[in-house]
Amino acid sequence: GFRCGIVGLPNVGKSTLFNALTETAAAQAANYPFCTIEPNVGQVAVPDPRLNQIAEIANSQRVVETQLGFVDIAGLVRGASKGEGLGNQFLGHIREVDAIVHVLRCFEDDDITHVEGKVDPVADAEIIETELLLADLESLEKRVPNLQKKAQGGDKEAKVAASVLGQALDLLRDGKPARLTQPKDVDEERHFAQAQLITAKPILYVCNVDEAAAAEGNEFSAKIFERAKAEGSRAVIVSAAIESEIATMEPEDRSVFLSDLGLKETGLGRIIRAGYDLLDLITFFTVGPKEARAWTITKGAKAPQAAGVIHTDFERGFIRAETIGFDDYIACGGDAGAREAGKLRQEGKEYVVTDGDIMLFRFNV
Ligand code: GDP
Repeated sequence: GFRCGIVGLPNVGKSTLFNALTETAAAQAANYPFCTIEPNVGQVAVPDPRLNQIAEIANSQRVVETQLGFVDIAGLVRGASKGEGLGNQFLGHIREVDAIVHVLRCFEDDDITHVEGKVDPVADAEIIETELLLADLESLEKRVPNLQKKAQGGDKEAKVAASVLGQALDLLRDGKPARLTQPKDVDEERHFAQAQLITAKPILYVCNVDEAAAAEGNEFSAKIFERAKAEGSRAVIVSAAIESEIATMEPEDRSVFLSDLGLKETGLGRIIRAGYDLLDLITFFTVGPKEARAWTITKGAKAPQAAGVIHTDFERGFIRAETIGFDDYIACGGDAGAREAGKLRQEGKEYVVTDGDIMLFRFNV
């Protein structure tokens, strides 16, 4: 599955947010640095009102949401790339995630120690990003010369890798993220992806604000939104304190609590949706009397790949996908109505799945 890594300086609210996200108390929040030593991995259900609509029409016994993974990666401080504060081992965990959720402290609280002495989320973001950049720089400073040597010896793969990673190295030496690298072809793209450079991963900034600023944000979060816009990253406003309160509530009580605070949806919902966008993910559905279920695939994936998310046999023996668009499914009142109205399509191997498609796979075993 797809995973987002939660990073940020100590005491910005990462664990509080992670706990709220996973609705567990697994990662213990505490007012001192390096509390979370092991990276914590949690699966979060992706809220999607369409799933309940489908389940209602089909009279499905249960609903199964699709999930997005979150990893709480603590221990990043100034100097992490040089091994300060347990830093180096955590950088390894960040290489393995698909996107970075960067939590920034945008709340003032004299009782909560700020490791850098004052609340300044832009300066904090720069500290973390510098460490990530240095980590990439260090890994490529060793790798690129080795690849160049192999390339000179006639190794074709090494030549491709040396070219694209050399480009990334130049950017990093210039203080720019590896994400700005432009691979020339699919082979370069493959080598670039395999390098798992941290600064090539998409970023979502999460501005952790006080309760009072949860709806509109504050001067701190405004600065981060400016930064995100300039970089082409995304940002959301969340109050980790509110989110952890909501996590303990019954679902019925949540909406009342939210509207009292002037909020339309939970911060978690916003983070998950932004994470989905960031990773270029879409959802398709399967539905039957037993269950209505949502599944995740990358935008641009074809029908057999979608089948493969459910089971590898479905992909191997793929024949066709009986497909109904979400709007057609609702308008026709379900399967039978859609079939009658000619809205059930027989799609083949080359069909590119659309967000919201309701699919039934036909396959050989
Ligand atoms: P981490 O080190 O980044 O994982 O930070 P924690 O989640 O452990 O939070 C550090 C401290 O800040 C804890 O005492 C939290 O209760 C507190 N905290 C987290 N979010 C907020 C917030 O939005 N407002 C306030 N006032 N305190 C918060």
